[in-house]
Amino acid sequence: MPSLPVLNNAPYSADAVRDALASELRSAVTGEVRFDLHNRMLYATDASLYQVEPLGVVIPATVEDGARAVAICARAGVPVLPRGGGTSLAGQCTNRAVVVDFSMNCRAVLELDAARGFVRVEPGITIDELNDAIESTGMFFAPDPATMKHANIGGCIGNNAAGARSIRYGRTSENVLGVDVCLADGSRVRLDRGAAMRDERARELTRRVCEVVWKNRRLIRERYPRTLRRNAGYNLDLILNQIERGEGGGSAGGGNDLTNAWEERVNLAHLMCGSEGTLAVTMGAQLALHPKPGAKGLAVVGFASLDAAIECVLPILKTLPTAVELLDDTVLDLARENVECRPFVDLMPPPTRGMLKAVLYVEYFGADGAEVAAGFERLRAVTPGVAMQAHTDASQMMKAWRLRKSGEPLLHGIPGNRKPITFVEDNAVPVEHLCRFVRDMRAIVESYGTRAAFYAHASVGVLHVRPLLDIHDGADRERMRAIAVQAADLAKSLGGVMSGEHGDGRVRTPLLERFYGPELMGAFREIKRVFDPGNVLNPGNIVDLSGLDPRPIESVSQRLRVEPGVGWPVGVPEGIETYFSYNDQHGFDSAVEMCNGAGVCRKKQGGTMCPSYMATLDERHSTRGRGNALRLAITGQLSALGDGTPGGPAWTDEGTKETLNLCLSCKACKTECPSNVDVARLKAEYTAQGHRVAGGAPLPARLFGAVRTLNRLGSLLPGAANWIARHPLGRRALNRVMGLHEKRSLPAFAPSLARQWGTVIGSGGPTVALFGDCFTMFNEPSIGLATRRVLQACGYNVVLADAGCCGRAKISTGLLPGAILEADRTLERLRRFIEDPGVVAIVVGEPSCLSAFKDDWLQLKMQGSIELRQALAAKAFLPEEFVDRQWENHPRRPYFSRAPKGGRVLLHGHCHQKALWGAETSAAALRRAVGTGVEVLDSGCCGMAGSFGYTSDRYEVSMRIGELVLFPAAREAGPAARIAAPGTSCRHQLHDGTGVEARHPIEWLAEWMG
Ligand SMILES: Cc1cc2nc3c(=O)[nH]c(=O)nc-3n(C[C@H](O)[C@H](O)[C@H](O)COP(=O)(O)OP(=O)(O)OC[C@H]3O[C@@H](n4cnc5c(N)ncnc54)[C@H](O)[C@@H]3O)c2cc1C
Ligand code: SF4
Ligand code: SF4
Repeated sequence: MPSLPVLNNAPYSADAVRDALASELRSAVTGEVRFDLHNRMLYATDASLYQVEPLGVVIPATVEDGARAVAICARAGVPVLPRGGGTSLAGQCTNRAVVVDFSMNCRAVLELDAARGFVRVEPGITIDELNDAIESTGMFFAPDPATMKHANIGGCIGNNAAGARSIRYGRTSENVLGVDVCLADGSRVRLDRGAAMRDERARELTRRVCEVVWKNRRLIRERYPRTLRRNAGYNLDLILNQIERGEGGGSAGGGNDLTNAWEERVNLAHLMCGSEGTLAVTMGAQLALHPKPGAKGLAVVGFASLDAAIECVLPILKTLPTAVELLDDTVLDLARENVECRPFVDLMPPPTRGMLKAVLYVEYFGADGAEVAAGFERLRAVTPGVAMQAHTDASQMMKAWRLRKSGEPLLHGIPGNRKPITFVEDNAVPVEHLCRFVRDMRAIVESYGTRAAFYAHASVGVLHVRPLLDIHDGADRERMRAIAVQAADLAKSLGGVMSGEHGDGRVRTPLLERFYGPELMGAFREIKRVFDPGNVLNPGNIVDLSGLDPRPIESVSQRLRVEPGVGWPVGVPEGIETYFSYNDQHGFDSAVEMCNGAGVCRKKQGGTMCPSYMATLDERHSTRGRGNALRLAITGQLSALGDGTPGGPAWTDEGTKETLNLCLSCKACKTECPSNVDVARLKAEYTAQGHRVAGGAPLPARLFGAVRTLNRLGSLLPGAANWIARHPLGRRALNRVMGLHEKRSLPAFAPSLARQWGTVIGSGGPTVALFGDCFTMFNEPSIGLATRRVLQACGYNVVLADAGCCGRAKISTGLLPGAILEADRTLERLRRFIEDPGVVAIVVGEPSCLSAFKDDWLQLKMQGSIELRQALAAKAFLPEEFVDRQWENHPRRPYFSRAPKGGRVLLHGHCHQKALWGAETSAAALRRAVGTGVEVLDSGCCGMAGSFGYTSDRYEVSMRIGELVLFPAAREAGPAARIAAPGTSCRHQLHDGTGVEARHPIEWLAEWMG
């Protein structure tokens, strides 16, 4: 068997050395130390194309823990990679190092002084978390990278992040007052203005930095770009500004020597900004705050061409906007295809002539509405005849912005092998040269037989260019290198720079010498020596003291996810017989590689994705963690890295199974992930392939998968079955066999719906079939009876379709062959209802069964024709959804005489419902009855998710997920609250977590009919 190419032969790669390091770390830190291959590899990527196997991962419990970890590694000469959200695009967050992840536990606000306009925080807090925490003060932290929901302050400082509003508020460096850092030797020092006057260590560092800067001042002035955005190399220009002028302007001084008051003026915190974790590890930061604007307005301006949009940028800048952002037609077209983003495209104004090909977002802040309106007026004056929509409504503005923020991840949905990849995405040029840059950049890209997507922070001349290339293809990788070099030269020739805001990392460090010349590279190395003479902090980024500097241009396309070692390409092996079809994701291999690492799934507020991440804040339990785990296992990388020989997919890898274990299969990622990564489907596939390889599924999975049979048996003698299930001995046996948590209550059995249905006299109206799902049939037949009552009141004939199971339970437990058989049988039994034009709908009370019809069945490789399945999907609805949809066409109208008109009803949507067709499908009918008091909770997933929350290993997480939003909302509403929840497991979870009894929306409607 061919052996795996050595990825890194540094001495610390040896297992024995690594084990010794791990045990020293374990004894010193109270946080988590993960050195096993699976966990390490979950930190091998960021949002770039690169993949480098880390040496280990430390998740410190406190920042002091983090400092201890750095000190231990530094003493051992082992590289350290500090990490926040891991959303870097240039590869600076991938390294052969011990990764220290501050994002889980180091997120405190340490001090807030709104009157003096500052806040002190720990490094792992995200910008959104920080701004939420200080909301009541009327102040905010202004830098707003598109990733502000999940980017950490430590990472923002590391990358000197900046966002759409940097023309008004500047970059992170303009908003950082000071940093507490851990130096490469493990010692701590505070760096801020005046630190050199207070602290001997700070003084020594500042003096040495100033000497390097002063010595190179002529070259710094000559070679640093003049663009507002520049993030290449170290910020020596900022330090030179401070030496020469003082931070806030003031006297020039200094002459030819460094005798002026540098120790008062120089603030090394600004040198940390953009240093990519290579100089020191940020342990805390003091940040400047700004007052929130009194009013905001956003104009969305539509153009028929990209050039026309760019030509307008300079005149628009004269109208004093806070942001001017650009999207091109590639992104717009993708947004039209994306379930989540499609509605936002409708907010875009069509140009007066031609198709919509580009959009400018122009934003104004003001003290009040009049100032914003004046901004719109100025805008109209400089763009006469151009189509525009001006928004001042917060939710409309948020929707429009969401499209801009999804721009980058959306690009990953482009079909075909060539993808819009990240490597020349960060050019900044003077705004007056934007048009020329776009024209010449297009010519460069086209000369290599491809095209590119463009989107931009147009106000500051930052153009994110994404050429379409296939990094699996060696020829395209060569094109990648060539385009990278030419793009950098083009940006330089126009007075700009190739690293505008995303930094250098692996992709642009090799181009730095070409840009700055050897003398300034020498200065960068001197700076690195001042802070990190042992070269342990994120080595290889910006500079490297190990003699490997400068990095060869070839390295731009090395260590990629698809070829992590030279000559070691990886991918999904051909010929895998999958249980699902992946046509909608351009094939199985594409589905497996769909996650781009942008980290949207690490958001902590709002939406459903990803419940287990929100509850644990653990990268491993994010959608990205699972996406990476699946990719590594299925592409054979885990097997290969494990024993040194290339292997096939690791279908039964314990680490991967453990990582997937906390996925609730809620389907939120399928919709909320901008790349539509569908972990629920991949998890089912992986689990099923694992069962196949292992020769069968474990007993608990088989029992959970057989829920219909068990429920049917239980409902034959419900009294006896419930007694046994509740009896301590019976319960203990069940707990043991099925792995149930002792605190979890079990759903009660009831006489089946079929037995209670009785003889129904037809109304003569059109027919609706009620699908007898496993829960409505055997646990809560009252839902079926309520459905019949409401629909009969609407004038329908209601028939019970006791057609079998949709297979949901088997799909969730990876029993896919059984699920396919079951689904095919049920489809056949449903055929007559599907094909009969007299049956106007098939209603399904349980959303997770409806989602099987509407989603899983369309992907499962079933025998039944796809046309029949599609017809079923089109004809199937939640009962309350059907009541609302057909409201105008009902033969009769139900009268909700007992509805609490104007009263409050809380609705918790099921996560499949929210992901696939939206909670409004339940809310609308409730509103028909009670009016506007129906409140759709932004409660994400309830945490139960079918069988997920029942088992001992997942109970705690299940409850933590419930506590995020749903439980507090239910408790706050009180015992008398009317809570509607169409999902069986959601109602059950509410009961177990809060004692509050929720009801299915159709039951509320039936009750309100009096
Ligand atoms: C879709 C997308 C859109 C983006 N849009 C923008 C944008 O509009 N503007 C922008 O500026 N950037 C943008 N980025 C890049 C990136 O999100 C930002 O730079 C962000 O601030 C990085 O934060 P993070 O927490 O993810 O940092 P990470 O990726 O975790 O780290 C960034 C760097 O900082 C270092 N670092 C992290 N924590 C510490 C610490 N405690 N001490 C020392 N060093 C540390 C890391 O080693 C790394 O070199 C975008 C990225 C993506 C994927
Ligand atoms: S799973 Fe989706 S949201 Fe999460 S990092 Fe991957 S692509 Fe981004
Ligand atoms: S299916 Fe739900 S729990 Fe699983 S990864 Fe996606 S969002 Fe997270």
